[in-house]
Amino acid sequence: MKAIYPGSFDPITYGHIDIVKRASKIFDSVTIVLMNNPRKNPLFSIDERFKMIKESTKEFKNVNVKVHTGLLVQYVKTSSVKIVIRGLRALEDFEYEFEMALTNRQMCPELEMVYLMTDLKYLFVSSSMVKEIAQFGGELNKWAPPIVEKELRKKFQR
Ligand code: ADP
Repeated sequence: MKAIYPGSFDPITYGHIDIVKRASKIFDSVTIVLMNNPRKNPLFSIDERFKMIKESTKEFKNVNVKVHTGLLVQYVKTSSVKIVIRGLRALEDFEYEFEMALTNRQMCPELEMVYLMTDLKYLFVSSSMVKEIAQFGGELNKWAPPIVEKELRKKFQR
């Protein structure tokens, strides 16, 4: 069985990678779908994010990366893969994900969401947290892979 893992990945963190790793053990193949949503005002361009995802997931042989512009349901409708993985951290994630799952299901009833629980180590890791740490020149090696650390340092000149 195949699954997709959508997100903004601005940038990818060890929290995301932990979910990718778990998913890659459960499913035959996992496609990370990098959602291109310019309204989110991302720090990294799509190409930069794509490159960081590729590099930091290359050890997983059944994982690949695609870019999608538009709604998740539009991607799912044109794809044969109907299983969508999301990661869950704290309660705020639950509320947001619950709302999104129910909305998506109304638009695309064949879509099924699968939630994987974060590792305790990554409970508080988010792309925004990593960006904030980088902005002030803090240690990043526990939260993001080396390529992300390097790109963040370049962005913030720290
Ligand atoms: P989006 O804008 O779609 O929420 P993100 O890149 O922020 O995109 O997140 C993509 C998915 O990864 C979401 O399901 C999110 O909950 C999950 N995720 C992000 N950080 C972590 C983490 N530290 N542990 C587990 N899941 C995470």
